[in-house]
Amino acid sequence: MNAEHLGQGDKKRPVCIFCPTELPPGKGNKPEHILLNALGGRKSTRVADCSKCNSEFGSGIDSTLTDEVASFRAVFGLRSGDGELPPAIRNAPSSVGPINLLGDGTPNQRSKPFTVEAIDDQVSVKFQVASLSELASYVPHAVAAAGVTEEALWSALEQQPGIEKVSYPNAVTLALNCKEVDSVRAIAKSCLVLLATQTGSDRLKGPEFSKARDFIKKCEAEAAQGLFTEDGRRMPTAAYDALIKTYGPLFNLIYVRSNAEGRTLAYVRLYNIYTWQLVLAEAGGPPNQEIALVSNPLDNRVWSDTVATEMHLDFDWLDSPDRASSKGTALRQIETAFEFYEQLGRSQVVNNAMQNAFATHYSAGEPLELDERGEAAYGDIATQITLGIFRIPHVRPIHAIRPVRNIVSEPSEVQGE
Ligand SMILES: [Zn+2]
Repeated sequence: MNAEHLGQGDKKRPVCIFCPTELPPGKGNKPEHILLNALGGRKSTRVADCSKCNSEFGSGIDSTLTDEVASFRAVFGLRSGDGELPPAIRNAPSSVGPINLLGDGTPNQRSKPFTVEAIDDQVSVKFQVASLSELASYVPHAVAAAGVTEEALWSALEQQPGIEKVSYPNAVTLALNCKEVDSVRAIAKSCLVLLATQTGSDRLKGPEFSKARDFIKKCEAEAAQGLFTEDGRRMPTAAYDALIKTYGPLFNLIYVRSNAEGRTLAYVRLYNIYTWQLVLAEAGGPPNQEIALVSNPLDNRVWSDTVATEMHLDFDWLDSPDRASSKGTALRQIETAFEFYEQLGRSQVVNNAMQNAFATHYSAGEPLELDERGEAAYGDIATQITLGIFRIPHVRPIHAIRPVRNIVSEPSEVQGE
């Protein structure tokens, strides 16, 4: 039965899971993301909760969960469901001191790309940039700030070797806490909303779901004893392997299942690291339901809401969570995530090395040839990759070479005013 059809032809419209508001038909009701947009969720529904509850959750429990995963998202460059890069994170702790993480996961240690200082009649411009192409991109800004000509600045840059200093923030501290009970409330809401897409919202309004509803809506955490368990068990291997294969090493899973008595349980894995088992109804819920939503946060186009037709978690397994093993599992999973981060770091090293080498030796659109210049470019790439892959901190002088297009600018002027 499709919940969209509930109430059609009846006098009564379906009602919000969390309050007495009738849900208006069609687009009159705001769509609720089942998995949060910030977590990469793409699927939304208008048949679970009303626009008002939806908005309250959005600025409340949903934003708590969003904040708690922010630095994790920045490290891996995990986009939202609607494709936005994660917000940049300032002053994330790392092994080389506080760094800024750009939304695509690039660590960024400096604060200002350049500083301009006037000493007597001299102007001093200092650059602190990640690459020569970045240097070139800031030259026009520095020119404006320093009040010199672009030609004069490039001449000065070319005469004075810069220092390339590279250190690697290989231990960015991942903050994925989900310690706030509000984050678990947001997770629990996702489970009920997912179930509503199959059963309709009205079926989740009975007393058997009151504990879960009150926990989500009013945060009655005391009354929520036993409602959720940080469940650190390994998943059954076949199901786990299948999910990893299709949805990547950091998959998100929301899985809901009930038995013949309507005991309704949920199992959630967030970024394949944090795991919860939730009791949505002790008994008396809609019997024999099974529904799941899974997604790949590394590629938000890859997700499924029909995965429960292919992958099943045994009800008895679901019903025997183990809090004790959760710490070990979380550590193990974070280790896996870090291995993955290292691989990601390697591909960034290669990209940066290529970009730098081409910015140094070529101008845009020029073909690569195996002449002297091409060999120099290859040499640079090889050195950069070796230093980068093996994470060898290094300092070496570098010479700024202006991009070719600037050479054909105006006739040169001598610095000084
Ligand atoms: Zn409502």
